[in-house]
Amino acid sequence: MSTTSVVYDYTRQDASGESCTAHAWAKVPPTLPAAEKAEVIERIKAQLKAQNAVLVAHYYVDGDLQDLALATGGCVSDSLEMARFGRDHAAQTLVVAGVKFMGESAKILSPEKRVLMPDLDATCSLDLGCEADDFARFCDAHPDRKVVVYANTSAAVKARADWMVTSSCALSIVQHLKDQGEKILWAPDRHLGRYIEKQTGADMLMWNGACIVHDEFKGLELDLLKKDHPGALVLVHPESPESVVAQADVVGSTSQLLKAVMEIDAPAYIVATDNGILHRMRQLAPGKKLIEAPTAGNSATCKSCAHCPWMAMNALQGVLACLEQGSGEIQVDEATRVKAHGCIDRMLDFVARNPNAISKPAQGFVPHIGAA
Ligand code: SF4
Repeated sequence: MSTTSVVYDYTRQDASGESCTAHAWAKVPPTLPAAEKAEVIERIKAQLKAQNAVLVAHYYVDGDLQDLALATGGCVSDSLEMARFGRDHAAQTLVVAGVKFMGESAKILSPEKRVLMPDLDATCSLDLGCEADDFARFCDAHPDRKVVVYANTSAAVKARADWMVTSSCALSIVQHLKDQGEKILWAPDRHLGRYIEKQTGADMLMWNGACIVHDEFKGLELDLLKKDHPGALVLVHPESPESVVAQADVVGSTSQLLKAVMEIDAPAYIVATDNGILHRMRQLAPGKKLIEAPTAGNSATCKSCAHCPWMAMNALQGVLACLEQGSGEIQVDEATRVKAHGCIDRMLDFVARNPNAISKPAQGFVPHIGAA
């Protein structure tokens, strides 16, 4: 596998001397007392109605936000479905509970809509680690390759790409490009890139980024945990390290892992993705035992402990503030938006023309039949 190095370091300190993850954890809003929470929820519902707005939430955000999105006609999903839902919904205002690239994708697809987010500082280590000018130089140095970027990038990086993919459809799209004889320049997640390279055999040149949540799952400790739970299936998001993916019964996007818990007949699951997804898994697969994959142990360097600090910044208070005050509005300059639209639209068009592109059986998973 070819890789290129980037200078980004998660523990980099900002001007105030804080690491970016410490800054994010410090901005996580406090849990509201029950009575106050109920009042805030009612005010949000009233604002959504009055402003013809809809709440679009990611699986990793706070369970209260997920429940509110579903209760008000919004959606809870992965980034692919969030993008499609926002584009196709009649609401004039989209409130995106997630991280900034998700709000940008919504704006790129729906420039006529107002896109609000609870906190514009909610970002992603993959986005932070792939700065647009550095990335443009990388692309310029390899003009013979198709540029394929993960959704977890800025609008400016997408503007330089030929294709955007999410973890739901990345395998199918890279396979499609390989079948056309294309060589790939891939960014930014090195683990997902390596997984796709291995599955497809495509010629991929990799950017060296990682998700701080998935990068911390530990292969050695997972092996030990499996011995304590011999009947449990291991579900792994492919942003995880190779030593973790190698032990998976199912590898897939958040939606695919959720589907696996619902459809496979097993009593227990070890889940290697952000623990925010457990909220929806418990709702859709009640009675099944869910165990978080280990980020701690002898080889621990835990900065996230299986939960994304930027996702954690999303809370009811922020949703209410952006609706009542009009704060947190996403802006993407028109020239960048038009360029970035091409690579997202190409992906959505591919998925629309190839419905199986997002439901390819992941490792060991046979939909509707049960565990292989
Ligand atoms: S969980 Fe990882 S990939 Fe997702 S937003 Fe957080 S840092 Fe980015």
